[in-house]
Parts: sequence; structure tokens; C-alpha cells
Amino acid sequence: MTEDDLTEILSERQVSTAEDARAEHSGDWATLSEWVTPEPVMPDVVVYPETTAEVSAVLEAATERGIPVTPYAAGTSLEGNPVPVHGGISMDLTRMDTVLDVRPDDFQIDVEPGVMGPAVQEAAGDHGLFFPPLPSSGDISTIGGMIANAASGMQTVKYGEVADWVLELEVVLADGSVITTGSKAPKTSAGYNLRDLFVGSEGTLGVVTRATLELAGRPAQRRGGRAIFPTLQDATAAVRDVVTAGVDVAKIELMDTTSARMSNTYTGASLPDAPMVFLEFHADHNVEDEIAFCRDLIESHDAESFEIAGDDRMDELWEARTELAYALSEYDPDRQPLHAGDVTVPISEYGSMIEYAKTRGEEASLPVACFGHAGDGNVHYAVLVDDDDESEVERGKAVYADIVDRAITVGGTATGEHGVGRGKRQYLVDEYDEETVEAMRAVKRALDPTDTLNPGKMFPETEDDGRIREK
Ligand SMILES: Cc1cc2nc3c(=O)[nH]c(=O)nc-3n(C[C@H](O)[C@H](O)[C@H](O)COP(=O)(O)OP(=O)(O)OC[C@H]3O[C@@H](n4cnc5c(N)ncnc54)[C@H](O)[C@@H]3O)c2cc1C
Repeated sequence: MTEDDLTEILSERQVSTAEDARAEHSGDWATLSEWVTPEPVMPDVVVYPETTAEVSAVLEAATERGIPVTPYAAGTSLEGNPVPVHGGISMDLTRMDTVLDVRPDDFQIDVEPGVMGPAVQEAAGDHGLFFPPLPSSGDISTIGGMIANAASGMQTVKYGEVADWVLELEVVLADGSVITTGSKAPKTSAGYNLRDLFVGSEGTLGVVTRATLELAGRPAQRRGGRAIFPTLQDATAAVRDVVTAGVDVAKIELMDTTSARMSNTYTGASLPDAPMVFLEFHADHNVEDEIAFCRDLIESHDAESFEIAGDDRMDELWEARTELAYALSEYDPDRQPLHAGDVTVPISEYGSMIEYAKTRGEEASLPVACFGHAGDGNVHYAVLVDDDDESEVERGKAVYADIVDRAITVGGTATGEHGVGRGKRQYLVDEYDEETVEAMRAVKRALDPTDTLNPGKMFPETEDDGRIREK
């Protein structure tokens, strides 16, 4: 498919073969920021559709000619999800960035896929509403990318995942046909639930061109803060008790001692290098009662301090956590995080999961920082290695893989939120089984028989020859 073919469908300013545009679309946050291998891969051309009809025309033409199309949004993925591993077309959806409608009476918003988190919050905020499940990267990522990666965030412990707030989707399939899945009604039992099939499909089954999302009323009361613990065991036990006792927390995040040290160094705070738990509470009334209930549980685990506040003080108390992503890569000039881990386990396994990660780090003589959305059983971990030291890299990869294996063994998942992309393909069969993965292949074959959409992702065999297995 030549540039001329594409400019018959799109205007010239919507098609680019320029080196810088192709380079910009050759990786994601992880690859382009050099956090991890694999290498960036250049698409042959980047297209910037502005309407559903244009998405449809490009897909139809590409499928007819056997050209791969990889959807690309803000590129903040961490597993190579939007990397065009077979070249072809990178379809950049960020120009489809209009908030189409807000219906406050129905608590609903209609958006194009390239709308970013802040634009949703602004449009919803005009009506006293908000979109609760944004990922931590919500300010820099798009709704289409969040839906495609089945994203979730710090507030998932109270409000659920992005998936839980998607009502209706317009999706363009590989052959160019446009379908609508789900409903604007709060619930539906009609037919197969195709909407949820597209959530988490990472651009391999269709391109989302419009989404109707549910919104929530903004809580009248918001408080938050931090508890510091003497040991990791005390901190994880406190998290487990808070969650299982049903405390109504909107966020509960953990940082181990290593993460605390990194963050303290980065922010210059005079906090102890000790395990910390960060909490936030949302309520329309009686928030202090919930905080008091929580305080009893936290203090029963020997917390050395527990401070909850509102407004600016709340933000100060949270600073160590909010700055952690930057602190991780700045901490040791010789050692960088190998690959952002996001295993997630049942809450009863949470404490032992983190202890296992720490022990494996010690055995390999490598720093392992553990943190994350503790209330969901989500363990983010960063194994720090010197890229120039082959032995360290190999040991780091082994530690990383052992942590994933352990999460799967205890009934958890290799990826709670970042998706499979290229980085976690090898774990799919371990997490499910060959029959289940074959059922996933059957879905892919049915909706995209020519493997046009985002080929080379999700399925383990694509690591070898790039294509999903023939039946
Ligand atoms: C600092 C940082 C923090 C993060 N925190 C979180 C977190 O808390 N929770 C979390 O879940 N993730 C997190 N992430 C990962 C990432 O930001 C999210 O998955 C985000 O939703 C990706 O959105 P994006 O717009 O960048 O999509 P991209 O990275 O551009 O694309 C993501 C995937 O979606 C596909 N895609 C994009 N648009 C469409 C579309 N319209 N239709 C179909 N497929 C499409 C792409 O092909 C790709 O497979 C974090 C990342 C960073 C860098």
C-alpha cells in the first residue's frame, strides 16, 4: 500500500512517512524511554484518521492488501503494546479527541478514543461529576488506550476498573465494518457481550472509535494521608485487614523500604526509609467515622505514625508516592528498572507475594522495589540492574520471571493492568491453559482472519515467527 493509496482515503496532512513521525511511533513509554528492551520498530507510514469513516476506509484497504495496522494512542504502554512489530501502518488515534456529549442526568459522557483523562475530568467536572477509574497515567494517556489495555488505577479498590465504567463502544473491525457493542442503558442482557471482548484486546480485534462512559458524582468529602510502619509484614498485614474489614478506602497504596528510600532521596524528604501505606477516603458524609475505624486497624499493626488530612496537606503526605515513578529511574545512575512488573494476586496472598519478591532480590543481590495498588492485590515491582553487566541483567530477568511465576501459582495474574503486549506473551498459556488460549485465537481468527490488527502481540508463538498459530 503506497502513500498515494492512503492519500486517496485521507488528506496529505493525515499521512506521514517522515522519519521523525515513524520514530515517534516505533515504541512505547518503556521502549522509547529505554526502560526496557525490546527494540523500537519503525512503521512504514503513520496515519492520523479524524473520523470513524476514515478509520474504516484505511482498515478495509489495508486488509485487502495484507498490510498490518497497529493502533497507536498516547504510547504510554509498558509492554510494547502499540509497537508495530511488522511495520506497516501505525494508526494514530490522537486526532480523534473530541468530547462528543455529556448527559449529566444519565451520568454519561460520549468521547472519541483520543480524548485524554484531563479532558474527561474537565467536561464531567462542569456538572459536578468525574470519571473514577483513571490509571496513574490518566493525565498522559487516552480513553482508547485505557479501554484497549483494560487499565485500572489507584481508585480501583473503591470504584473498579475502566472496564466497569464502559457502557457502549463503537468499534471498527479489520474489514472496515463498524459495529456498536454494549448499550447506553445501565445494563443489558441482549446477545453476546462483545463490548467486554474489546476491553483489553490491545488493538488486536478492532479499533475503538467512540465510547460511552459512566460517570460518578464528586464526593463532598476527600481526605488522605500516610501511615509509616516498622516492618513490611506490619504494613502488608494492615493493608489486608483494612481491605477485608470493608473499610471504604478510595485508594490504598503500599511502598516498601526500598521504594521509600528512593522516593526520599528524590524528593529530599526527611522521612524514615520504612514501609509506608498511603490512603485516601471519599464520602458524602461522615468521612471521619471511616477514618477512625481505619485508624484502629492501622494502629493495631504498630504503625509508627498515621496522619490524615485534607487539601494541600493531603497532597504533601502523598508526595513520596506520587513522585515514585520518577524516583525509580533517578535513584542509581548505574542501575535502571529492568521491566515494570504488575502482577496481581488475591489479597490473602499479597503480603507473601511481596516478601517473595524481596527475597528473590536478595538472593540475586539486586535491589527490588515493591509498591502499588495494594487494595487490589497489585504488586508493582522494579528490579534494578546495570544494563552493561550481563550477569546482572540475566539475574534480574530470572528474578522478574520468578515473581510472575509465583503470582500465577497462587491464583493471580502476570499482568493486573499493563496488558500482554510483547512483554508478557510467554506467560499467557501458564496463566490459562492451551485450550483457553486456543479459544482466544479462535476469536482473533473470527474477527480478524488476515491478522491485520496489531500482529505479533498477545499470543506466545508470535515471539517466534510473528504470527498466530494456524489451526
Ligand atoms: C508512569 C506510568 C504509569 C502508569 N500507570 C498505570 C496504571 O496505574 N494503570 C494502568 O492500567 N496502566 C498504567 N500505565 C500504562 C498505560 O499508561 C496505560 O495502559 C494507558 O491506558 C495506555 O494508554 P495510551 O493512550 O498511552 O495507549 P497506547 O499505549 O498508545 O496503546 C495501548 C494499546 O491500545 C491500543 N489502542 C490504542 N488506541 C486504541 C483504540 N482507539 N482502539 C483499539 N486499540 C487501541 C494500542 O494498539 C495498544 O495495544 C502507566 C504507564 C506509565 C508510563
